[in-house]
Amino acid sequence: MLLSCENVRKTFGAGVVLDDLSLEVAEHRVVALIGASGSGKSTLLRCINLLTEIDDGVIRLDGEDITDPRVDPDLVRRRIGMVFQSYNLFPHMTVLRNITLAPGRVHRRDAAEVREQAMDWLGRVGLADKADSYPDRLSGGQQQRVAIVRALVNSPRLLLLDEVTSALDPELVGEVLTMIRGLKDDGMTMVLATHEMGFARQVADQVVFLDGGRVLEAGPPDRVLGDPSEPRTRQFLARII
Ligand code: ADP
Ligand code: MG
Repeated sequence: MLLSCENVRKTFGAGVVLDDLSLEVAEHRVVALIGASGSGKSTLLRCINLLTEIDDGVIRLDGEDITDPRVDPDLVRRRIGMVFQSYNLFPHMTVLRNITLAPGRVHRRDAAEVREQAMDWLGRVGLADKADSYPDRLSGGQQQRVAIVRALVNSPRLLLLDEVTSALDPELVGEVLTMIRGLKDDGMTMVLATHEMGFARQVADQVVFLDGGRVLEAGPPDRVLGDPSEPRTRQFLARII
């Protein structure tokens, strides 16, 4: 397995946010996390990326226990790309600088090589002419695509996407989803939290329904979304669709 979360537990104060949660993701697979607001989707993604420390359990990337305290989080994050709902681009830096900053400074990679990869990615997603623009000259959809490129430039093993279309105007959602579908076609392994059920159905190999920090139901999208076995999943889908 490329990623495995084993009996992960996370509490904030008295609140159990991830409760004995286990999840496996094979290479080249896409897993969609769905569930009500507060069900633990973002926390799970943050734990995988070591932005949040787990209280119990193990998370493995390519078999290695990345939650071992001796592991350097920066080295793990070089292997895991993460994109958030808000694009978080630095407004005072060009698109190219936004993309190349962390690989250069944090990961100490060769500047010319990083630049070349950044331009290659921008070209692939049709944004090469925006390399020297500042983020405020770009649409929300373009900014989010840049944020995804920024997450890709280290050639990560795994890409985590946390509701990356939720902050976008509806007419801009499509271009971001198209980019994600392209990444799947290229074989990128992804875990994405989403409220776009139609998209989850198209792109995901597996849909995982989280409820109160537990995996209540998981399986192929057609089954979980089309014929859920758990009443709570059915309730959730009835509300959202
Ligand atoms: P989702 O992404 O599915 O909406 P979250 O992972 O954001 O869910 O949140 C799950 C629960 O954890 C919520 O009840 C939220 O209030 C709580 N939570 C998340 N982060 C923190 C934090 N840093 N401190 C305290 N509680 C938190
Ligand atoms: Mg969230």
